[in-house]
Amino acid sequence: MTNQQKIQSLRDELNTHNYNYYVLDNASISDYDFDVKLKELEKLEKENPEFFDPNSPTQRVGGSITKNFETVVHKNRMYSLDNSYSKEDLLDWEKRVQKVLGTTETEYTCELKFDGASINLTYQNGQFVKAVTRGDGFQGDEVTNNIKTIRSIPLSIKEDFVSNFEMRGEIILPIDGFNKMNEERVENGEEAYRNPRNTASGSLKLQDSTEVAKRPLDCLLYQVVTEERKYKTHFESLENARKVGFKVPETITLAKSIDEVFEFVNHWDTHRHDLPYETDGIVIKVNNLQQQEELGYTSKAPRWAIAYKFKAEQVSTKLNEITYQVGRTGAITPVANLEPVQLAGTTVKRASLHNADQIAKLDIRVGDTVFVEKGGEIIPKIIAVDFAKRPKNSEHTIYATHCPECNTELVRTEGDAKHYCPNEFGCAPQITGRIQHFISRKAMDIDGLGGETVDLLRKEGLITNYADLYDLKVEQVIPLERMAEKSAQNMIEGIEKSKEIPFEKVLFALGIRFVGETVAKKLAKHFKSIDNLMVADFETLIAVDEIGDRIAQSIIDFSSNLGNIQLINRLKASGVQLEVSAESLENQTNKLEGQIFVVSGVFHQMSRNELKKAIEDNGGKVSSSISKKTNFIVAGDNMGPSKLAKAENLGIAIISEQDFIDKIS
Ligand code: AMP
Ligand code: ZN
Repeated sequence: MTNQQKIQSLRDELNTHNYNYYVLDNASISDYDFDVKLKELEKLEKENPEFFDPNSPTQRVGGSITKNFETVVHKNRMYSLDNSYSKEDLLDWEKRVQKVLGTTETEYTCELKFDGASINLTYQNGQFVKAVTRGDGFQGDEVTNNIKTIRSIPLSIKEDFVSNFEMRGEIILPIDGFNKMNEERVENGEEAYRNPRNTASGSLKLQDSTEVAKRPLDCLLYQVVTEERKYKTHFESLENARKVGFKVPETITLAKSIDEVFEFVNHWDTHRHDLPYETDGIVIKVNNLQQQEELGYTSKAPRWAIAYKFKAEQVSTKLNEITYQVGRTGAITPVANLEPVQLAGTTVKRASLHNADQIAKLDIRVGDTVFVEKGGEIIPKIIAVDFAKRPKNSEHTIYATHCPECNTELVRTEGDAKHYCPNEFGCAPQITGRIQHFISRKAMDIDGLGGETVDLLRKEGLITNYADLYDLKVEQVIPLERMAEKSAQNMIEGIEKSKEIPFEKVLFALGIRFVGETVAKKLAKHFKSIDNLMVADFETLIAVDEIGDRIAQSIIDFSSNLGNIQLINRLKASGVQLEVSAESLENQTNKLEGQIFVVSGVFHQMSRNELKKAIEDNGGKVSSSISKKTNFIVAGDNMGPSKLAKAENLGIAIISEQDFIDKIS
């Protein structure tokens, strides 16, 4: 066999195993043997670079970094779906459909509505070429490298199918995989993801595709878009797509009438919780493609399809106890501890109660029978009390007055829904939480130190605040449980390295209440140093764009606290960046002061993000949508047609990338 043949045969073999495992759910090789073959292929490809193929199974492990996702205009617009909630709605829809078609001969497909992020996969000559998110329907972000890591998506189609086509589908995170990811995060002291849908869509925009490859993402397909008229019906096109390797769920069903549609709806309304992934409804489509074409689209959705939304599921159960959790900022969250009950396929024991007002508003009391509902979020919520079942001796809920962790009296400021434990420096979950936040990826990004270790270091009395991190010595850390010399060293090195982290991130890391990533950026840019920020008075603070009363007051509270002043001084002494570096100041001007820009399309001399940064560095403001207030639109290639029309309508100046560069240089 020639090298080329060897490479081809390994690729075919690995593709087949991938297909068996990820699409058919039926492993045909051990993980170990698979890895051996993959390594062999990697080696051969490296030795014979002339046979490189972007769709080789070796390309699925990730390794590429995408700094900026290019905006790509969809060849065929990605529409939304109209919703319906009852049998009457569906009958009305059928009437409209049949009126346009002038026939009562209509057949439908029923599919589950998968709850994830929509994706458009383009294939040319049977080869996968790109993947683009839905975006605003007209244009989305190209996420090809990340999508390639999803093993159930075929990268080349050999068998008989249409050759140029787009596959539309949904990127989802199966519930099992989602729960596993969360267990790991909680172990690492990170906050759990809220729901599979947001996590799936967030995954598509990760910069490092190796990270995407680690996530148990899947892709379920529901539409073939092509100009080749090979198939007469939607059902037939999907059945064939499944045959050539796409994961088209077998749940798709043909229905000859709306009554049959309703059988499908009723079945899945109760059985949907047995599925390995989340669904929030059913999608009904006119099956005949010719009829679909005749029906066409409204300004937002196809006339030939409609979604039917399930009602959020509800159960009632007893409220046994209300407990209180303390977050890193001292915020108190009341938690309802429930008599365990089955809801939407899982056993529910706890529900969020939000805050004191919510409890008072619904008059929730211990001993009550309450209605619990599960919507899009994993944590269910209490929506009402079943007053008929309230016990006679029931008593009003008196909200906690003291911290459950440190027994300090709680405070609540006007206009804030939450209570706080003010004992910032002495309340264990706040101490640990604040340091965990400080070291997290978007803040000081300290490698070699995890959330659990922070808690251990605190328990051992080695740290009680983030400034203490910079005084840690390897010798102090080594004796700790499960700490090897190497990891102790890594940890100290990681802490040392964080002294290079720029001021805006340090400011975020400090964990000042209401100062999130974006606010921290704004403040850093405006005040340039922690010293300037800490002496700013209320008026100065609220004069800054987008800084409101609540944030301003929080900064003043932080700055006037002696403990914080000491911490800042210690961080300064340790060499942490507490002012904007001279280098980044150099590129800043006021040339664009007061001007609002919208950036659209693809650029050549700089990336979208660089462009946005340049606008901000020169005192301008970037807005995501066009309005009367917009001063300029910087238009690259492929600017969205809807944006263009709007800009022209409002008479806003459209400038090119070069015009912009001239403006600031
Ligand atoms: P909506 O976002 O509520 O307007 O619903 C439209 C979205 O539903 C589409 O963009 C798809 O991402 C998603 N969807 C999920 N399952 C299906 C399906 N079987 N057929 C069509 N669209 C689906
Ligand atoms: Zn406390």
